[in-house]
Amino acid sequence: MQRIPHYINGREVPDADRVGPVFNPATGAQDKEVALASVERVVEAIEAAKAALPLWRATSLAKRTAVFYRVRQLLVDRTPELAAILTSEHGKVLSDAKGEIARGLENIEFATGLSHALKGEFSEQVSSGVDVHSVRQPVGVVACITPFNFPAMVPLWMIGSALACGNTVLLKPSEKDPSSAVFIAKLFTEAGLPDGVLNVIHGDKDAVDVLIEHPAVRAISFVGSTPVARSIYARAADNGKRVQALGGAKNHMVVLPDADLDMAADAAVSAAYGSAGERCMAVSVLVAVGGVADDLIAAISTRVAALTIGPGTDPASEMGPLITREHRDRVASYVAGAAAEGATVVLDGRDQQFDSDGFFLGVSLIDNVKPGMRVYEDEIFGPVLSVVRVDTFDEAVALTNANQYGNGVAIFTRDGGAARQFEFEIEAGMVGVNVPIPVPVGTFSFGGWKNSLFGDTHMYGPDSIRFYTRGKVVTTRWPDPATSEVNLGFPQLS
Ligand code: NAD
Repeated sequence: MQRIPHYINGREVPDADRVGPVFNPATGAQDKEVALASVERVVEAIEAAKAALPLWRATSLAKRTAVFYRVRQLLVDRTPELAAILTSEHGKVLSDAKGEIARGLENIEFATGLSHALKGEFSEQVSSGVDVHSVRQPVGVVACITPFNFPAMVPLWMIGSALACGNTVLLKPSEKDPSSAVFIAKLFTEAGLPDGVLNVIHGDKDAVDVLIEHPAVRAISFVGSTPVARSIYARAADNGKRVQALGGAKNHMVVLPDADLDMAADAAVSAAYGSAGERCMAVSVLVAVGGVADDLIAAISTRVAALTIGPGTDPASEMGPLITREHRDRVASYVAGAAAEGATVVLDGRDQQFDSDGFFLGVSLIDNVKPGMRVYEDEIFGPVLSVVRVDTFDEAVALTNANQYGNGVAIFTRDGGAARQFEFEIEAGMVGVNVPIPVPVGTFSFGGWKNSLFGDTHMYGPDSIRFYTRGKVVTTRWPDPATSEVNLGFPQLS
């Protein structure tokens, strides 16, 4: 059985004392296992990152930039290999895997502009003969803890900027699909990143606990489910660390009566069922305003009938399996319970049979969903789309704002005034106007509101430069020593 090793100080470390299973979701077979780090192994990785810090933070911006240009090209050249790894462990179809890598590449491209991003400010003559300038310096050793659903893109969201800012990094990917993190780290080594600057340790809560508690780790970037995000945010902050913790989502797509219904149906099907609904920006609630629901449901049903679900390696497949058998069964349980809650199951994904032991589930569409139902309140994270019917724009906004999550949201309309008002009132971090999955481009930052993000900086882009650096302000004067005197008063501007 292939064992996926840690990657510490530029070498693979294949621990055997504790391992976890890694499945191929399309076959259901366990063909790999992953080393799960002991406390000692995590500490060894932290020590490696700490030892590598002085040299890396002193490495010129020009030399750091060159590493990012090389790693960008390596990622482009090796995309087919990396996409194959993603499909084999996550299950998403190959075209989607390539899309994930392309979106992750944006963060490496942003990092190539680090000289610009790290520019400080200078004010001349703030007082007579006195100048002030500011610089941004690395926070130190940074831990990046990532979820299963974007095993390449979310690590790239974090490590691009963290390394660009001069930090050293410990990446703790999901133990469910861990190979891509090691693959990416090795590309960085090939691109000239010194050993110890980027380390990968695999593990579960035990490994994360060490990262949260170890004093050498100065900042934690986390993406995952809300209960874990909330807990990591509180515990890491209590240990004096800087932390950003992105959590779960329940993204609403509001369709106004004047929207192009074919366009809205295309968008809803793509955003709800792409990657089997295992995207933090997937649309999971369709808010049908003012009587559009029946036509919209009919248009969605027609499109769903044409969907091909199968192994991600088959070019004909549009949607692959879910990540594990347990998760597939959990998602199915929401469909099973929906009718008893008073909702109407229009399409039941459990009806579709698959000639495979893989973790497949057909797509579900549930109508007449209301707040208070489990199918509405919980993040299901599977191919299940709920339809909530409301009469007015104001009701749609109130419903969306009352939801505990506020990651992404979308409105479909031809009315620019309504779209503008929606943007103004809606409580979510990322808004799409006729865009169902409004993941910001890499020159902006990604993050939600409410229970979708704990912390005050978003991820990647300009916010990441603030998160991964500390500000320092320097006040300078070069007076004539002859004018020097003792003055116990508080310094004032002159
Ligand atoms: P998860 O919370 O189970 O795991 C995320 C990471 O935390 C993994 O590395 C895991 O090993 C670790 N972990 C799990 N339980 C832990 C615990 N008790 N203590 C410490 N660490 C723990 O999430 P997941 O199932 O891998 O990913 C899916 C979730 O991630 C969904 O809720 C999804 O919405 C969310 N997500 C959010 C975003 C976003 O940008 N907001 C992006 C992607 C995924």
